[in-house]
Amino acid sequence: MKNYQIETILSTNRKPKPDSAHLEFGRTFTDHMFIMDYTEGTGWHDPRIIPYQPISLDPSSMVFHYGQTVFEGLKAYLSEDGKVFLFRPDRNFNRLNHSNARLCIPQIDEELALEALKQLILVDRDWIPQAEGTSLYIRPFIISTEPHLGVAPSENYQFIIIMSPVGSYYKEGIHPVKIAVEQQYVRAVAGGTGEAKTGGNYSSSLKAQEVAEKVGYSQVLWLDGRENKYVEEVGSMNIFFKINGQVVTPALNGSILAGITRDSIIQLLKHWNVPVVERRISIDEIYQAYKDGVLEEAFGTGTAAVISPIGELLWKYEKLVVNSGEIGKLTQELYDTLTGIQNGTKPDPFGWRI
Ligand code: PMP
Repeated sequence: MKNYQIETILSTNRKPKPDSAHLEFGRTFTDHMFIMDYTEGTGWHDPRIIPYQPISLDPSSMVFHYGQTVFEGLKAYLSEDGKVFLFRPDRNFNRLNHSNARLCIPQIDEELALEALKQLILVDRDWIPQAEGTSLYIRPFIISTEPHLGVAPSENYQFIIIMSPVGSYYKEGIHPVKIAVEQQYVRAVAGGTGEAKTGGNYSSSLKAQEVAEKVGYSQVLWLDGRENKYVEEVGSMNIFFKINGQVVTPALNGSILAGITRDSIIQLLKHWNVPVVERRISIDEIYQAYKDGVLEEAFGTGTAAVISPIGELLWKYEKLVVNSGEIGKLTQELYDTLTGIQNGTKPDPFGWRI
C-alpha cells in the first residue's frame, strides 16, 4: 500500500443528524467531503477532506455545457457490533475509470480513491445509520471544470466524494414494482455511452420515466436502441428473469451498465448451482415465456434497492403479471443473502465485504 498524503480539515460547525426513521434518499449530506483537483500537465493533486460545502465554478465550466462528467454509487453499512463495511468498493472505482476512459477524463488512482473514501468514512463515521436496512450512500463523481466554451476534453477536473445517510428502500417490506417496457424512447445505442455512468444517460432517460410514472409505473425497461427488440436494463437497475428454472440476464453488450449487484447475483447463483446465463433476450421471448406460463420470476438489481422484484411488466398495453404480483422465492433468497453479506449478518464466502 502506498502512503497517501490526504490533508484533513475538520468542520467546526457540525450539523444535527437526521432522524434515522425518516431518511429521504439523497437529501441530507454528512459533515465532510473529499475533493482533489486535476490540472493538465500536473495530473491529480491536493487530495483533501474538507467540511461539506458548496463549490464555486466559473459559469463557462465545461461540465455545464457539454456534460463531461462521470459518477458512482455505493454504500457503507454499520454492523450490529459497530463495524463499518463497504461492499466491493474496488469495483466502483474501477468502473469509474472505465467511465473516465469513455468520456476522455483522466484516470484516477483507484487505490488512492479507496483510501480517501475510507478516511472520509472514518471522519463521518457517526453519520452511518444503524437501523435495519439503512446505510450511508456514497457518491463519488468527477466534473470538468475548465472555463472554456469549446467541445473538447477539459484540461481541469475535480473529483469529489459526498455521502448521504439513507433509509431502508423498502419501508413496509419488500414490494414488487411495476415496470413499463419502453417503446418510443431509447436510453443507449451500441457504440454510445450506455456502459459508462455519465450524467447524460440519466438526463436523456427522464422523459420516458415521466411518461411511465403518469400511468402508474415506477420505472421503464429499456430495449436496445437499434432494433427496439432486445431487453437491456431498467432505469437504474440491471434485469433478471427466471424462465423455466433458468435465470437469464442480458449479456453486457456495450450499451448496458455493468452492475456490481448484477455481477454479485450471477456469482451467487453459480455458487448455489442455479443455472444462470448471460445472453441476448428479446422482449418477444419474454412475452412468449409469459404466455407459456414459464416466466416464473423477474427482478432488477442495483445498489439503491439491492434487489427489486418485478410484479408487472407493461408491454404494448398488455399487463404481464409475474408470479401473481408476489415476490418470487429465489428473488427473496437472493435479497436476504446479499443484504446479509452487505450488513455483516451473513457469511461472506466471496470476500466482498471490506
Ligand atoms: N444500470 C444503471 C443504468 C444504473 O444506474 C445502475 C446503478 N448504478 C445499475 C444498472 C446497477 O448497478 P450497480 O449494481 O452497480 O448499482
